Amino acid sequence: MTTERIDEVVQRAEQLFRDLEFRSVRKWKDETGGLAVGYMPIYIPTELLHAQGVLAVGILGGGDELEIIRGDAYYQSYICHIPRSTIELGLNGALDCLDGMLFPAICDVIRNLSGMWKMQFPDKLVRYLDVPQDFDPEIGGRFWRFELEELARELTARGARPYDAEALRESITLHNRNRAIVRELYALRQREPWKVPTHELYLIQRAGLVIPPEEFEQVLVEYRDAVRADQVRTPKDQARVLLTGSFCEQPPFGLIKTLERSGCYIVDDDFVQVHRWIVRDVETTGDPLQNLVMAFLEDSIESPTRYIAERAKGQDLVDRVAASGAEGVLFCAPSFCDPALLDQPMAVAAIEKAGIPWTAFKYAENNGQFQVIREQAGTFSDSIKLWSGEVAV
Ligand code: SF4
Repeated sequence: MTTERIDEVVQRAEQLFRDLEFRSVRKWKDETGGLAVGYMPIYIPTELLHAQGVLAVGILGGGDELEIIRGDAYYQSYICHIPRSTIELGLNGALDCLDGMLFPAICDVIRNLSGMWKMQFPDKLVRYLDVPQDFDPEIGGRFWRFELEELARELTARGARPYDAEALRESITLHNRNRAIVRELYALRQREPWKVPTHELYLIQRAGLVIPPEEFEQVLVEYRDAVRADQVRTPKDQARVLLTGSFCEQPPFGLIKTLERSGCYIVDDDFVQVHRWIVRDVETTGDPLQNLVMAFLEDSIESPTRYIAERAKGQDLVDRVAASGAEGVLFCAPSFCDPALLDQPMAVAAIEKAGIPWTAFKYAENNGQFQVIREQAGTFSDSIKLWSGEVAV
């Protein structure tokens, strides 16, 4: 009954996802004359950029449709793929529409990429955004606030509107609404995964990386309303799995579809985390910049890129399995991704202790063959269905 409405919004999202020339960003710049600033995974304070009239553009590599011509020469063979495709996008002119790039501190590869960007594109704003790993408001909080103030000043120096507290408050309110709908969609997928296939939810979130948040809100509302109203999609006998490890370099789109076709309902994942990094509404009363700081310190998701002092590594995964009703875990990380793969043994130990079945595989964003993973995931799903309750590796 409503599949057409769903198809329409998903197709639009897919066009945005596949557009490696960032036409929507170019159009936005032509229409507004504003600054567009790219950012690498995982989190940046998009509210602040939006409040200064800047379009924040999430760059998640080149996926499986970009031919790497020069990018490989910049990196040794034993690191992940996303920096190669990102530098390729820079060198082939696709990112000319960006006035700058922000590189949040998540690993050495991203740090090195920020240095390369500085050398390759000396006229652009390039900022390595050092996120705090100390969560005391007097230490990490003061540091993060200083970083944000510096960023605001740098954006202004490049032509953005100066920082304004009221504009930031409005921007936080808008981003809160978007985060709430994304949370709603994740919750709906947990309850009725056949209604919100992961490949669709993924495309919707990817679209949100390249359009203004006002437009993203429309896309989210349209998709949510259409899937809520849908009467056509019906449940299948699939295993419920939680997919983890894919927070930076994203798997090829075909791999996500393959996992679903192999008999898995993905009921929780790590994709496109910027929309979910802050887990609840950011406070809107009081000093909005301080509210952003406190949200980062206190309400960020647990991530391998974040220091965890209080809890045992892997406990968050066990909690997420329980909350999502997942029957097993797929460790699905990019090859050579240090943050994901160094955490994996501790996460495995935690979920084995909790008696949760798991399996693991790796990918690169440009992989084109999924047969082996399809068989592995299909066998895993079957084993869950047949021997639920026993650990299957
Ligand atoms: S995929 Fe992993 S190693 Fe590569 S840039 Fe991202 S976080 Fe760093």
